[in-house]
Amino acid sequence: MSVPVTRAGTQPVSVSVTGAGVRREAIGRYTTLGVGGEAEVWTVTDHAQLAEAMSAPYRILGGGSNLVVADEGLTERVIRLAGQFASTDLTPDPERSGPEHGDPDGLVTGWVGGGVPLPGLLRKLQRLGYSNLEGTVGIPAQLGGAIWMNAGTRFGETFDGLHSLEIVSPEGTRVVTPDDLNWSYRDSGIPRNHIVTRARLRLRRSTPDAVQERMDAADTARKGQPKNRTPGCAFKNPTLPDGARAPAGRLIDEAGLKGSRAGNAMIAPEHANFIVNLGGATAADVHALLNLIRERVGVPMELEYELWP
Ligand SMILES: Cc1cc2nc3c(=O)[nH]c(=O)nc-3n(C[C@H](O)[C@H](O)[C@H](O)COP(=O)(O)OP(=O)(O)OC[C@H]3O[C@@H](n4cnc5c(N)ncnc54)[C@H](O)[C@@H]3O)c2cc1C
Repeated sequence: MSVPVTRAGTQPVSVSVTGAGVRREAIGRYTTLGVGGEAEVWTVTDHAQLAEAMSAPYRILGGGSNLVVADEGLTERVIRLAGQFASTDLTPDPERSGPEHGDPDGLVTGWVGGGVPLPGLLRKLQRLGYSNLEGTVGIPAQLGGAIWMNAGTRFGETFDGLHSLEIVSPEGTRVVTPDDLNWSYRDSGIPRNHIVTRARLRLRRSTPDAVQERMDAADTARKGQPKNRTPGCAFKNPTLPDGARAPAGRLIDEAGLKGSRAGNAMIAPEHANFIVNLGGATAADVHALLNLIRERVGVPMELEYELWP
């Protein structure tokens, strides 16, 4: 149940029983691609609000950097983490850091919220000279979304810098370590809609310059990626009939599809495994291009990003 609140000049906002902000709005504005219809967005700042938000069917939204949301919108609530779930405490925890814990340069931080944007977090870590997560530079996720996917690059992945995490689901709240999870490449093993609310980071003391150097190396590998709005790579690298894996971008390029358009969506001329929004694209435009690729590239292609619904 929610109580309507009127605010001049803004969309209708309600406040739920526990104080969560509730508003119907286009989900596209919260995604890097920028497409998607409306849903009821619940912005939660503490555990009581989160529990209320989870009392009806829901989806958890992070940085929206791996999503194509339907033009028709969504029937489920969309939960956004804010308040205490977006706060950052990078102070080394004396009970878990230091030589008596096995590594003189090792440290474990306080809690960092699942709703904290990863790029800003990495900038803070660089300034402190704290290492372990710099391989994830350039990934426009929130910490919770990056953990859920174990996002990464060939320079490192999110689980490289994870000590423990708090996971909330309708069944309750638990704190686990990576050892408790069946995690692997781009997969945390955390069930869908179990929400990563916060995490302690496991880092190593280095220097700002050394961390920056490693970030630059990881960043250089991104040169050539398109600058337009996109949800990242469209397809995983498929397995060919001879058992070898081929880069999806090369196959799409060889099929002559670079620069192909549907409405205002385009297969990026810079890199064929990216579909970009030229401005005003719809989810239907993106689906048309995904289908075109599937038809024209002669091998089964598995989608990299998520389609909501
Ligand atoms: C330009 C660009 C470059 C990219 N480069 C890379 C790359 O190099 N490597 C890589 O791995 N990925 C990359 N991606 C993809 C994307 O950033 C990652 O998949 C990232 O992990 C998505 O996180 P998010 O917070 O944006 O999640 P969203 O896109 O919002 O959601 C993705 C999934 O995570 C779930 N989720 C989100 N937050 C939480 C949470 N707190 N708890 C539990 N589940 C949650 C959602 O429910 C959904 O199922 C790139 C994307 C873009 C746009």
